[in-house]
Amino acid sequence: MVERQRFVSALGDMLEKHHDRFVELLISEQGKARSGAEWEIGGAIHWCREIAKQALVDEVVQDNGTNRIVSRHTPIGVVGAITPWNFPVLLAIWKIAPALVAGNTMVLKPSPFTPLCTLLLGELANEILPPGVLNVLAGGSDLGQWITEHPGIGKIAFTGSTATGKRVMQSASINLKRLTLELGGNDPAIVMPDVDAKSIAKDLFWAAFSNSAQFCVACKRLYVHEAIYDEVGQELVAYARTVKMGNGMEPGIELGPLQNSMQYEKVKDLLRDSQVSGHRFLIGGEASTSKGYFIPVSIIDNPPEDARCVTEEAFGPVLPMLKFSDVEDVIRRANSTEYGLAASVWSNDLEAAARIASRLQVGTVWINHAHHFSPHVAFGGHKASGMGIENSLHGLAEYTNIQTILQKRAG
Ligand code: NAD
Repeated sequence: MVERQRFVSALGDMLEKHHDRFVELLISEQGKARSGAEWEIGGAIHWCREIAKQALVDEVVQDNGTNRIVSRHTPIGVVGAITPWNFPVLLAIWKIAPALVAGNTMVLKPSPFTPLCTLLLGELANEILPPGVLNVLAGGSDLGQWITEHPGIGKIAFTGSTATGKRVMQSASINLKRLTLELGGNDPAIVMPDVDAKSIAKDLFWAAFSNSAQFCVACKRLYVHEAIYDEVGQELVAYARTVKMGNGMEPGIELGPLQNSMQYEKVKDLLRDSQVSGHRFLIGGEASTSKGYFIPVSIIDNPPEDARCVTEEAFGPVLPMLKFSDVEDVIRRANSTEYGLAASVWSNDLEAAARIASRLQVGTVWINHAHHFSPHVAFGGHKASGMGIENSLHGLAEYTNIQTILQKRAG
């Protein structure tokens, strides 16, 4: 265990040593702004070092004159990891670090849209790890399916869309693979009338638009109490006008383009649907005519609850802002989705906010902030947002089987 922890910690050192190389490659491959790429690589380093400190201990259930009963964690064997294109390095490390600490080996397949950073990660990791421990294979959906069906693989750790997650679950059933599925979301944010619109506008903006909203936990439905609805809208638009979108390599750029043409066309289609439906935009609304897959920040003014921009995960910078007047009503609306990934509540009344949080059907609720992650904090979706946990000792345990040994003492 100690040796495995050292290997994982050494992966963090390797990432730190090659920090600038990874950041540059991530910007050019994924399209994100430099600050976002630095956040991702910094996070990957931190995760390696912190997960390397984690360990699962044996549970002595009974130890007396007649019996000794111990439950212990054993490695699963080979883990198949499949990652998406929005955070290719960090989400790979979220899987590699615990899988290796728990004693497994791994076959890792990145998204075909962003294979380069993961291939570099595999190449440099293999200068540190024993041969065969981490195997990075780049390829398309076919390769993903071969991994999920492979009888020699004992667990799949998957991050991606809910539609693909369902297929993964189906093919993993062939040999009853263990599964962790981190899937899509349609995260609500609920803004109560007692907040100061100006002071939360910046945090709300980044809750929705970080990584150009290609973020599973981006706020995708912004519910604002009618008493401050107009003011929050004005402050959000004023802040949005200060944020520069462009080539992530250039200084001062905070938002990049969408990563690929498929996603660009999907988000453009959502925008077109809103336009045809006569929705009003507080800002944005048109795809950029300049070169690249740029969709300017777009905020839609109180569209109907059944509009596509409300019910579908855009995974791009299109945010519906929705008015509410009654807390019971907004909790019902926030929960009326197949997804259950995360949510946020914004209020100066922390007890009231906590009461609302406890009634939201999601895996994570942030109060007065968003996107706080830690290697030591459990993260996972409810409902169609997934199953299983990443991070924390719960996440580490997901890379193990439990074996119980019941010993009858002589005499
Ligand atoms: P995707 O489901 O299209 O692809 C994810 C990965 O699965 C890719 O590597 C892809 O090649 C592979 N794949 C595709 N078909 C497969 C199959 N049949 N069998 C096995 N593997 C297959 O998702 P994406 O477009 O890359 O990522 C965006 C989605 O990921 C969004 O829905 C987003 O919300 C979600 N996401 C979730 C989290 C989370 O932690 N919950 C984090 C990031 C992204």
